[in-house]
Order: sequence, then structure tokens, then C-alpha cells
Amino acid sequence: MILGIDVGGTNIDVVVYDEDFEHVATYPTEKNVSNLNSVIEELVERFEVEAVGVGLAAWIKRGKIVKMPNIRGEFRIDLEIPHVIDNDANCFAFYSAKLFEVENLLGVTIGTGIGSGIVADGRLIHGEGLAGEIGHWFVGNDRKCTCGGVGHLEANFGGWSLKEQFGRDAKEMIEDGSIYLTEGFRMMCVAVANAVTLLDPEAVVFGGRIGGNLDVEKLKECIYRYLMPEFRPEILTLRDPLAVAKGACLLAEESVCSKR
Ligand SMILES: [Zn+2]
Repeated sequence: MILGIDVGGTNIDVVVYDEDFEHVATYPTEKNVSNLNSVIEELVERFEVEAVGVGLAAWIKRGKIVKMPNIRGEFRIDLEIPHVIDNDANCFAFYSAKLFEVENLLGVTIGTGIGSGIVADGRLIHGEGLAGEIGHWFVGNDRKCTCGGVGHLEANFGGWSLKEQFGRDAKEMIEDGSIYLTEGFRMMCVAVANAVTLLDPEAVVFGGRIGGNLDVEKLKECIYRYLMPEFRPEILTLRDPLAVAKGACLLAEESVCSKR
């Protein structure tokens, strides 16, 4: 049995995995993040798990958290049993690759922020840790980003930016179709098309509160416009709020199995 935990800006979602996934708990992040380690230790004991995977809305470089713009508070993760800590978009991409049974995939999560994860030949690509930060690609203009940069994709199409630009929630803008007319949407499609040319994945999977709800046909229409016909990956959406926690489970499982 493996424990998978998704530590997001608002909630901490917990699943256990033993051939199938089971959602066992959700905690508010704000109240629990400072004693995250004891929360996890308690769950380890309760479910008698042999490994833990943690997906974090954070930048992790050489095993250290270097940035965590959407989570307030400090914590450490120090467990006696095998555990893996990875970026939440990486967990999303890893789970998507298993779910859709592809070896080469780009996962793009669009919610408050924008993240992405790369799976190549069945493995996650980390670089020095920060590989796949598509949300912080420069896409033009001088909108300020949460990371301190300007003109980044997230500053043009992240949930916080859409709210700032249009005074509306992105979900409403998806419902009435106005999101597809924004310059931010076009910029996002250009960024994804460029990433596709770099990586040549079999599929691009969109997730997150905004990404998972986008219309696949609209995405295809816009992304394919910027791609040569030879580069036309499948465009998919995944509406599973537990995808990150599930991916964290699978990463932990893989790491345990590889050590056996
Ligand atoms: Zn940025």
C-alpha cells in the first residue's frame, strides 16, 4: 500500500493505492501545512503504507524547495519510510502518461498558476529540478508575474491573472467561451506548440481547475495553427482533482520497486 499526497495552495488531498486508488482524506492546507510531517506520519501508521509520494505546488531544485508562491507556511518532510517529493505538475504528467498509456507526454496544469511536466521515454524529465516550467516562459508584454519576472505565460493566462485582467473567474469565461478570445489563450497555445516542437510528445494533457475544463476542439484548433502538420500530438484534458495525488503514489511505487 502506497500513500499519495497532493499539497496544493488550498487543500491537501490524500489517496492510498493498492492496485486501485482510494481517496481517504482532504485537509485545508493553511491549518495543516506547518505540521505536515506529523499529518503524514499519522496516515502512514493508519494505513500501514510502505512508501509515500508527495506532490507539492513548489519548485524543487536538487531536492530542495526553492519557491512555493501558493503555499504559506514552512514545513519539512522527514519520514522513516521510503518517500518521494516532486512538483505537482510532474506528478500530474506522470499519472497522465500511465493513464493514457503513452511514453512521451507533456502535461500542462492551469489553475491559479501554470505548471507543466515532461515525460520522455516513460520517465519524468527534471533537469536540475525545474524542467518544464512553461508557466514562466516569456510570451511578450510586461505583465508582472508571481515569480518576480515579467511577461510570463502565467502572468497572462494563470487564473490569478485572468481575474486581474477581466475581473471574472476563469470558469465563467470558459462557460461563455470568452476565454478562447483572450490574447492569453493564444499565448498559451503558442507556448504549448513551441514545447511540442521541442519534445515531440505523443500527447499533451491539460489539467487543473482551468486547464482540465478547456474545450479540446478549441485547444486543437489554436495549438495546431502554430505547428507543422508533422507535429500534431493528441490533445487531451483530464478532469481529475486527485490526479496529482495519484501521480505521487505511482512515483513512490516506482521508486520503491526500483530499489528492490
Ligand atoms: Zn513567472
